[in-house]
Amino acid sequence: MGKQIMRKPFIAGNWKMYKTVAEGVALAEGLKQTLADVTTMELAVCTPATALMAVGQTLAGSHIGVGAQNMFWKDEGAFTGEISPLMVKEWAQYVILGHSERRQFFGETDETVNLKLKAALAHGLTPIVCIGESLDQNKAGETVDFVGSQMRGAFTGVSAGDAVKVVLAYEPIWAIGTGLTATPEDANRIIKAAIRDVLTALYDAETAGAIRVQYGGSVKPDNMADFIVMPEIDGALVGGASLKVDSFTAIVKNAIAALSV
Ligand code: PEP
Repeated sequence: MGKQIMRKPFIAGNWKMYKTVAEGVALAEGLKQTLADVTTMELAVCTPATALMAVGQTLAGSHIGVGAQNMFWKDEGAFTGEISPLMVKEWAQYVILGHSERRQFFGETDETVNLKLKAALAHGLTPIVCIGESLDQNKAGETVDFVGSQMRGAFTGVSAGDAVKVVLAYEPIWAIGTGLTATPEDANRIIKAAIRDVLTALYDAETAGAIRVQYGGSVKPDNMADFIVMPEIDGALVGGASLKVDSFTAIVKNAIAALSV
């Protein structure tokens, strides 16, 4: 028997710091064609800020949404180099927050993720909040405690009504861009213990059961099916394999086939 689907599956691409405007538009045009018939799954591409407008225009009217990869929490002001929720929402519906690369290289903390999460929700953007442990934490058996603390930090002061609008991406840092992946069983177990159970404690079982959790970390066409059939995994955040029409399309199609949706 197949997986009982409680939440709409959602696969998003994270283009990271790749793609000029012209390259991004070409990729979006390709995906618009190859994924034109996909309606059973939510889809998005998260582009560099410079490509949001052009990719947003390219994908307007398609089933593929657009997301930013970061934003500041204020609407406007003297914050050189930042982009605001007002600027993001002109072209995008989603925003990735707290990606491990931003935590590692740009000083993102649980506190700033929380401020950004509240700003995204206030502006009607769907946040994709990334959480996940380092290899050392994983080896030391600290994963559930650490991811649980990232969860509590992110959701501080967020109501249950808003929490259900959040998408989470469980991304073990050691699996991002490395070709290594958590086993689907381990990812499922950690999502249950460190995410779903923490949400139940923070809110209630109904709220926890309504929130979508993606897996991220070297998702490829040939491993997508193994993750998406797991009961706690509702989709994927895809980095490297989202940069080509063929591989992102194959990931989506393989997920659809595995779920029979
Ligand atoms: C990511 O960028 O969030 C990611 C998971 O990257 P990759 O798929 O390349 O590991």
